[in-house]
Amino acid sequence: PVYLDYNATAPLRSEAHEAIMEAFQHAGNASSLHHAGQDAAARVDRGRRQVASLLNCAPGELIFTSGATEANNLALRACHTPDTVLVISAVEHPAVLETARSLTADRPDLLVELPVDADGIVDLDPLRFVCARRQLSVVSVMSANNETGVLTDLKPIIKLAHEAGALVHTDATQQVGRVPLDLAELEVDLLSLSAHKFGGPQGVGALFIRRGASLPYRPLLTGGGQERGWRAGTLNVPGIAGTGAAAQAAQHHLAEEVQRVGALRMLLESELKLRVPGCRINGARAQRLPGVTSVTFPGTPADAVLAAMPEVAASQGSACASGAPTPSHVLLAMGLSRDDADATVRYSFGFATTKHDIGHAVDATVRAVEHVRAALAAGAE
Ligand code: PMP
Repeated sequence: PVYLDYNATAPLRSEAHEAIMEAFQHAGNASSLHHAGQDAAARVDRGRRQVASLLNCAPGELIFTSGATEANNLALRACHTPDTVLVISAVEHPAVLETARSLTADRPDLLVELPVDADGIVDLDPLRFVCARRQLSVVSVMSANNETGVLTDLKPIIKLAHEAGALVHTDATQQVGRVPLDLAELEVDLLSLSAHKFGGPQGVGALFIRRGASLPYRPLLTGGGQERGWRAGTLNVPGIAGTGAAAQAAQHHLAEEVQRVGALRMLLESELKLRVPGCRINGARAQRLPGVTSVTFPGTPADAVLAAMPEVAASQGSACASGAPTPSHVLLAMGLSRDDADATVRYSFGFATTKHDIGHAVDATVRAVEHVRAALAAGAE
């Protein structure tokens, strides 16, 4: 079997596994003052420093959460003011899209969804327009798309939003640990990440809140006051230790992995284009994550293609949306027809993927597409 669904979740790195198991062997609540508590607090501190190092921010600017869904909710709900405009892109993950829609449910005129072009690049003209005319609270645009890997050039967005007095949030879940991201240079106010996309455990994430960012203090969870009051609840010490270890490993190998994984993507795409007539790479002209290929096999439903290659774990659209009857909102926003959106397979890969895996996936895909096309042709006769 070949695992090419890193955007749904990446494998656990051995460094993370080790840190998690070690933390599990030591009882201790990071808030307790005795030696066991202090041991737990030290693991949390180390994890926080390791994540901060990957992002080049201060450890105190990170709030640990249960994942990027919670981090996105915390960011948007903390920033939202009922009478100002919230700006997002049309291709956001549902954790942002649905949160923004629920916050503006009774005032849909206060939500602006920036469209994207055929390559998935966000159109900034509507942002310029609202910045000039309306009062904004927050602009939230993802740094890398989970379905296509298309990267956003955040700098012009930050400039426009800050000039208009708005805060900038980015859902960087798919970028962190995969492509360098330097928070000393990228002046976003808030950033969400999730550990399980870079080799940490599922169920742990973080929200970066830039020191000095003026946002209303509005936690989602109130209670014992952990995480400086931003997120109450006993800290997930093993999860945070594993997240830190994964962040450190990702940082250590980042530059070489960008090259190596990028070469794998080139191989996958050139082979598919050569061997599967008519296939199209989505977002081909945009800057993209090294480890994601979204490919449309026109006339060939992706669910049938995936079913015909059970040894390859790839996905149809995003994991969160698959199984649901609705086509990908991301691909539709890029102008694909419903049929083409339904005929799209996402391969996502990373640190543990080999050239052999890619070769295997190409061979399996070529056979699967031929099989499905032949079956459809036979059925049509
Ligand atoms: N944002 C993006 C862009 C994602 O890809 C995901 C994971 N599918 C999430 C948010 C949600 O992350 P989590 O699973 O940690 O809640």
